[in-house]
Amino acid sequence: MSRIAYDLSLIRAVVFDIDGVLSPAVVPLGDDGVPRRMANLRDGYAMVRAVRTDALDLCIISGADAPGLRGRFSLIGVKDIFLAAGNKLDLLKAWMASRNLAPEEVAYVGDDIPDLPCLLHVGLPVAPADAAHECREAAILVTKAAGGYGVARELLEEILKVKGVWPTTGDIANG
Ligand SMILES: [Mg+2]
Repeated sequence: MSRIAYDLSLIRAVVFDIDGVLSPAVVPLGDDGVPRRMANLRDGYAMVRAVRTDALDLCIISGADAPGLRGRFSLIGVKDIFLAAGNKLDLLKAWMASRNLAPEEVAYVGDDIPDLPCLLHVGLPVAPADAAHECREAAILVTKAAGGYGVARELLEEILKVKGVWPTTGDIANG
């Protein structure tokens, strides 16, 4: 039984912000003045599994735009990656329409004010433990993990378990 107060079997798609969600909100600042990012490899495993099992469509909508982001996330199977996003809600609505997704079929994970309209638009709004309080208050699920430290893993594991495609101890023992 999931600890999330939502029928996760409804979820067909998960949309992620990057900074403060898939990468921490606090990152090193390069000498060139450009903030660096971090990749959580256990998030990566769960994202790959979600895509390879055809359990979920994954999407990224981020205000960030840096070389390498598209490469990293397309490599792990995210087909739709919107970077340098201005109005995130417009992008989210257009993407959901293109995929024929109803709000109750979508989880959105965001950590700051620009994500709020998107959080309020979907059925399952999710915020990292260290998100802005406005996002935490709007969320049905506040993850135990802080941004960058396993937020995607925590959410995807719960959804994929409900869908029966998260590896069990027996699967793992049998390779
Ligand atoms: Mg963010």
